[in-house]
This record gives sequence, C-alpha cells and structure tokens, in this order.
Amino acid sequence: MTKWDSHTHSQFCKHGTGEKTALLVEKAIELGFTKYSISEHAPLPEELMPDPVQRSEFTLLESEVGDYFSLINELKRQYGDRIEILSGMEIDYLSGFEQYTIDLIKTYQNELDDLIISLHCIEGKGGLRSIDYTPDDFKDGLLDYYGSINKVYNFYWETMGKMLQTDLGYFKTRRIGHIGLINKFSRNFPWVSDDMTTPAFFENIFTLVKSNGWTLEFNAAGLNKSYSGNMYLTEPMLYWCNKLNIDIFYGSDAHGVDMVGRHYDTYLDI
Ligand SMILES: [Zn+2]
Ligand SMILES: [Zn+2]
Repeated sequence: MTKWDSHTHSQFCKHGTGEKTALLVEKAIELGFTKYSISEHAPLPEELMPDPVQRSEFTLLESEVGDYFSLINELKRQYGDRIEILSGMEIDYLSGFEQYTIDLIKTYQNELDDLIISLHCIEGKGGLRSIDYTPDDFKDGLLDYYGSINKVYNFYWETMGKMLQTDLGYFKTRRIGHIGLINKFSRNFPWVSDDMTTPAFFENIFTLVKSNGWTLEFNAAGLNKSYSGNMYLTEPMLYWCNKLNIDIFYGSDAHGVDMVGRHYDTYLDI
C-alpha cells in the first residue's frame, strides 16, 4: 500500500508554524511516506474578505500562487527520487461563490496534481461565517444566528449535501477534506439531541458522497482536538463508508513539521 499524506500545508500558510516546507517533506520521508500532497489553502474571493492582510491570514493570495507552485516544483526536483510530491490546493466550497471556485480550478488545473474540497464556511450572521475559527466566533456567527446548535449542525449538513451535488467542473481527484469539521467545537457546544450520533442521520449525505464519486479524508486534526475519538469521521459516518465502500485517505493536515504523519497508525486501524 502506498503510504500517502494527502493533506499538508506549506511555508506560505500564515496560521501555521512558518517552517520551511522542505523540512516537512524531509519528515515525511523519514517516516516512510512515499507520496505527499502539498495542499495550501486556495485564494478566497476578494468580495468575501476585501482586506488582503486578513485574507492572507487564512489563504494564499492570488499574487503568491506563482511562487507557491515554483516552490513545489523545486521540491519535486530536490526530493522526487525519494517521495512523490503532488502539487495541490485545499479549495473552499463557498455557497453562492460556486462560479469563483469553478474558475479557480480552471485557472490552476495545469499546475495541480491533486485537489481537496473543504467546507469551512456556512451562511451565518452577516454572510458566510467560519465553522472552525474560535468558539467565540462560532457562537457569534452561527449559534446566536441559528438559535440552537442542532439548527447549526443541520444547516452545515444541508450545505454539505449541496456541495456534494455541485458540479465544480472537471478535475481528476474528487476528495473532501475533514467532512465532519463542524464537530470541532462540539465540546464547547454539545448537541441537544442524539440524532447526529446515529447512522440514520448520515444516510443521505454518505449516499451522495458515493453516488457523486467523492472520496474522503481521514483528517488527523480531528483526533488531536477530540475528547472522544475520531471527531471528524465519527462512528456513524464510518458505518456508511464501510457499507457503501467509500475510499478514505489519510491526511495529517500538517501546519508544521511535528504534525506530519501524526496518527497514521489510527488511520490504518480504521
Ligand atoms: Zn490551515
Ligand atoms: Zn481545512
């Protein structure tokens, strides 16, 4: 089996440790990985976040993309005999900005070997709001806006369903990053009913994953922040992955050297 880390970030990421990407690649080689995707956050639309300084905290700026791909090509030259490096991006699905994403993929498709589509933002107070920034921001933008945690969760999964059915244009890989990211602050804001802990709740979503040809990521960050196991790919979700034979790939979501390869053993167990 290919040992692949399918989700990692780079020195361009301003919310990571800022360590040289080469050091992360070296760590992956040391850990015996043979395939390694570099998947920096793709540029957000200016319209969504007009301030470039703020925007660059979250994602690459369009002006940095050229240098980003150059770095990856350099790393491919330097390490290509020891590890297969894939040039990738983690692209946001932004409800209402579908055309932006389609255009973005089209613009960069010749440089991209790999692609992750992630849902980090859903409609909330004042427009699209982040689901994974801070508990306070979650409360302000989503919980207070929807009035109950169950409504927030339901709306997240509704948006996920929409994303799964959106045609984002042609691309060779169709993989979803951390599908259960909405659970990130579930310790701060617990569910008030048990619905979301049963397989039945996820049947439609995972049927859409399968029927639309998506694959999933086993995201290691979901274990680090967890107080009860695999938070981003919970038991009821895994039930459908098994039943429907959905492919799951390991992703460390490393934002620094120490995070490369973390929890790979847990992935193998699953
Ligand atoms: Zn990040
Ligand atoms: Zn992400």
